[in-house]
Amino acid sequence: AKLNHHHSGIEIFRSELAEQAAKRIALESDLRHAMNQQQLQLFLQGQVDPQGKLVGAEGLLRWQHPQRGFISPAEFIPLAEDTGLIIPIGRWVIEQACAILKQWQLSSNTETLTLAINVSGRQFQQPDFVDNLSRQIKQAGINPQRLKLEVTESLMLHDVELVAEKMKALTKLGVHFAIDDFGTGYSSLSYLAELPFETLKIDISFVRDMLTQPSMASIVKAIVQLAESLNLTTVAEGVETPEQAAYLKQLGCHALQGYLFSRPAPSAAFDEALHIH
Ligand code: C2E
Ligand code: MG
Ligand code: MG
Ligand code: MG
Repeated sequence: AKLNHHHSGIEIFRSELAEQAAKRIALESDLRHAMNQQQLQLFLQGQVDPQGKLVGAEGLLRWQHPQRGFISPAEFIPLAEDTGLIIPIGRWVIEQACAILKQWQLSSNTETLTLAINVSGRQFQQPDFVDNLSRQIKQAGINPQRLKLEVTESLMLHDVELVAEKMKALTKLGVHFAIDDFGTGYSSLSYLAELPFETLKIDISFVRDMLTQPSMASIVKAIVQLAESLNLTTVAEGVETPEQAAYLKQLGCHALQGYLFSRPAPSAAFDEALHIH
């Protein structure tokens, strides 16, 4: 009886795996069509300075699936990376970002706003990434100084020299770099000294727990100090309460992002709120 029980456990496990695999294949095929069918949108979330003034935004992908509704990028970005679909999707994000910045340049109340976009490792590692981005910036006629690329520490785990070369080429052009989810990866800190980063983004997990767990507060403090001593600016993600905002302000964090100030919204709604027409 024991053996049978064991056996059926494996069967259940197998059918669950098969179900998961089928779901993934279906999602993958849907994702292939998502771009052509205009199901992807680049939402914008504001970033404010310690005085509460809007200084920029981050573009965050949203997929409106015809049957399943909104699917989180946390679910489909890994899939896009595995399948290589992140390459056309990433290009599309850059195209959208350039169009948004172009429009912002034409309006006096958004002239100085920066726009950050997330770039995945696989996308950055494409041999033509630098050329492509430069071309898109030129074609759109935008000021590259206002475009920020958010990359994660995982980028630094492979071929740092090549990464450095590309980053330097783009920095020369005027593009800025931010490290996303800082402190959650497994890379060495030495890249901070070697690579031309401008901004360190404090991960949401530290911000969430810093007022209830003293060790988390210590980490946030240390990150802000580290950034300061390396001449980097800091942006805190996931700020949800006035208490968190006040604490980060007191530490000297340069910009805050989170539901307290604004939720990610379609770019039209974002512009509407800023009276950009
Ligand atoms: P991320 O770049 O670290 O983005 C921050 C995430 O925190 C976003 O999740 C955002 O919606 C969420 N967030 C912002 N403020 C708050 C808050 O106050 N509370 C809470 N609980 N969450 C907040 P989202 O939009 O689901 O994106 C998840 C991740 O997907 C992003 O993390 C990024 O790594 C990736 N992603 C999003 N858009 C793109 C893209 O265009 N390209 C690539 N390669 N990755 C993207
Ligand atoms: Mg980000
Ligand atoms: Mg982040
Ligand atoms: Mg994060």
